[in-house]
Amino acid sequence: MGEDLEKLKRQLPLLDYLRQQNWTARPVRPSGEFVGLCPLHSETRPSFYVNARKNLSYCHGCGQGNDLIRFVELSRHFSFRQSLAYLEQYNAPPADPAAVLEKAVAFYQQQLDRCPEALRYLKQRGLYDPAVIQELRIGYAPGGSLRQHLTAQGYSCDLLRRLGLINARGCDAFYRRVVFPCCQGGRAINLYGRSITAAVAHRFLPRSKGGLYAWEWVQQCPEVILVEGLFDYAVLWQAGFRHVTCSFGTHLSPHQFQQLCDRPRTVYLTFDVDTSGSGQQASQRLTYQLQAQSIAAPRALARGTRSKLLLWPGW
Ligand SMILES: [Zn+2]
Repeated sequence: MGEDLEKLKRQLPLLDYLRQQNWTARPVRPSGEFVGLCPLHSETRPSFYVNARKNLSYCHGCGQGNDLIRFVELSRHFSFRQSLAYLEQYNAPPADPAAVLEKAVAFYQQQLDRCPEALRYLKQRGLYDPAVIQELRIGYAPGGSLRQHLTAQGYSCDLLRRLGLINARGCDAFYRRVVFPCCQGGRAINLYGRSITAAVAHRFLPRSKGGLYAWEWVQQCPEVILVEGLFDYAVLWQAGFRHVTCSFGTHLSPHQFQQLCDRPRTVYLTFDVDTSGSGQQASQRLTYQLQAQSIAAPRALARGTRSKLLLWPGW
C-alpha cells in the first residue's frame, strides 16, 4: 500500500496536479518553490507554497501542510479511500475503445466452447466448421461475468457502460447472444449480437459499424457478393467463397455505397427473400442505383429461410 502511494505521488506530482486544476503561481526559489493563492480558502495575498522537490505544500494562511492525497481529501471533502480511488482514475491513461472491444471479443470466444446451446444454435444456422468459427472470431455471451473480467483488467464500469457493453445495472448487454466482431483493418470496431432465442432482439453497440464488412479483403475483386447479414457471410465463407462482404442490413450507408462503386466490378446482391417483400424491394432499388454508377448488379436473391442460403444456378 505504502509503495503504491509513493508510486502514485511520483507519477502525478502535486505541482502538476495543482496546475491542471488551474492553480497559478510564481517561483520564489530556484530550488523549485512556488507561491500562489491558497485553493483551500479565499485570500488576497498568496500564502500557499509548493515545494516541487519535496512534493509537498504548506499554507501560511490556514496552516495546512499537504501531500497530494491530503490535498485531494481537503479540497474535495473526500475520505482517504475516496481520494485514492479518485486519483487512480484521474491518473489512468485514456482507454482505447478498440482495445476494450478486442478484449470483449476474446472473452466471448472463450465462452463459446463451454456453451453447448450456442454451438447448437450455430449449427441450426448452418455454421458448423470450428475453423471458420475461429477465423471469424465468433463468440457467445452467456451473461454474468463480462464486467468482472474487464474491470479486473483495469477498465472502469463507466467506460464499459459508455461503450454499451454493459447496461445501467452492470449486466452484459449481449446476454444470450452469439457475438460477431465487425472488423475493419483486422480490428473490431463494433459487435453484432444475435439472440439464440426468439425472446430478445439482435443488437449492435451504439457506435459506428464502419463501412462494408472486412472490405479490405474484397476491395480488389472484380466480382463481389453482397449479403445483408453476418450469418449469411459466415455460411458463404464456410462454403469457400472469399469475395463476400456484408452491409449489416438492406439499406447501405453512403460510405458503403461508395465503396461498392470505387471501381468497375460486378456486385451480386443476395438479400433475403421475405414475405413482406422488403428484401426484394431493397435489392431492386440498389440494383438501379449501382447500374446508374455503371456497376453490374445481377440479382441473386436467396430463396427460403434465413438459415438456408440457396445460391442461384451456375455456382
Ligand atoms: Zn490556506
